[in-house]
Parts: sequence; C-alpha cells; structure tokens
Amino acid sequence: CGIVGYVGPRPSQDILISGLARLEYRGYDSAGIAVIDADGGLGMRKRAGKLQVLRDDLAAHPLPAGTTGIGHTRWATHGGPTDANAHPHLADDGKLAVIHNGIIENFAELKDELLSGGYTFVSETDTEVAAVLLGREFQASGDLVAAFRAVASRLEGAFTLLAVHQDQPGVVVGARRNSPLVIGLGEGENFLGSDVAAFVEHTRNALAIGQDQIVVITPDSVEVSSFDGTPVEAEPFEVVWDA
Ligand code: GLU
Repeated sequence: CGIVGYVGPRPSQDILISGLARLEYRGYDSAGIAVIDADGGLGMRKRAGKLQVLRDDLAAHPLPAGTTGIGHTRWATHGGPTDANAHPHLADDGKLAVIHNGIIENFAELKDELLSGGYTFVSETDTEVAAVLLGREFQASGDLVAAFRAVASRLEGAFTLLAVHQDQPGVVVGARRNSPLVIGLGEGENFLGSDVAAFVEHTRNALAIGQDQIVVITPDSVEVSSFDGTPVEAEPFEVVWDA
C-alpha cells in the first residue's frame, strides 16, 4: 500500500518510519522495514497493526543502524494481516528483501514452479514469490538490476516492487507496472516512494517513472530503464505541497 526507499549518508530507519507515517493516510494493516547495516547484514522488522506497534518493537529491540533501507505499509490482498505476511519478504537465502504494492496475478503458477524446484515459503502472500525469484536470479548474476530484468516481465498484474540485497549496500532497485512509484532527488541521497508524501520532508525535486520501468538509486546516482534494459530519460517535476 505505502512504499518508501532510502539510500544516502543518514541512518535510514527514522527516514523510513517517518515516510511511512506520511503514507498512513492511505490506510494499512501492517508495517515493516529492512535495513542493510554497516557490516553488510540485512536487518528486518515487521509487525501486524499500526505503525506504532513497529515503532515500539524497534525501540525495545533496535536493529543495527544502516544507511540503505526500504519500508512498507501493507493492505492485505493475499494472506491475512499477520506478522509473517507483513512486508518485507525475504529471498530463501535471507540476503534480499522485497516490498510490494499491488497484486501479482500469476503468483500461484510461479509459486508451483518454485515449490517443485524445492523452494519453501513462510507467508501466504503473492509478494514472497517475487522475493524468491529475485533471490534466485541474484544468485545467478550477483546484481540486483539484472535480477529485476530477469523477473519483472514474468510478473503479471499490478506491482510496485522495491528490493535491497546485503551484498549491494548503497543500492535500492525498484520496478513498476500498473502501480505508482516516484523518485525523490536529494543531495548525496535519493529516495523512492509510492507517492511524494514518502519523501516530501526531505526534497521537492522528483522524477516520474513510466510504466514497465526499472529504477536503481545510489546516494549519488539515479538510473531508469525499461524492463529490457533500454535507458529511459525520467521526467523531472517539482513537488507542490502545502504542509
Ligand atoms: N498483495 C500484497 C499482499 O497482500 C501487497 C498488498 C499491498 O499493496 O499492500 O501482501
């Protein structure tokens, strides 16, 4: 339902949580974040219920700090509103985390394919299929953008997907089909959001992403391409916001 991504010099957790708070108006039933810490580990926390439940959990049991991260508020479509079904979802090796807005219409057939390949699942969501597929492709190529290129066009329906991988700190990759995603441009930091509310307190400079496009952000670069890898010039716009 709500999506935020951050990469830059600052600890990402507070930026993710405040971005999710700005997206609360959309409604949701669960919330979660994943952060790549300074030692290259992937930390994740996700809870059914209000954002405050997640905040309290993080305060009681802090995650290691990291400057790359993704955050999600979920409105359940596949699987009830439980901690296990909350996003992010992990690839089978636990090194890659995914958040997703929308519905992957062909998830059942993809899940069958993965189950017969020996993969196991810990949630009832359509999203976990994308996480497992991206993890499998990352193992083949060692690169998150290459993994998205291999997976995105196989997914039918509506999706905005963001992923981070612990072996690529300083990188957040996203893709969209029939579901919104925008880029926020900072100074030495960049943002992704399901809408500009996710990053409006940090920057008013934004880029629009078209249908069936992949975006990769690092602290000082933004690249957009079509699913097949053709580079795309993203359209700049200024966020108009009356706080
Ligand atoms: N279909 C996904 C799920 O049920 C994502 C729902 C959403 O857009 O929040 O977990």
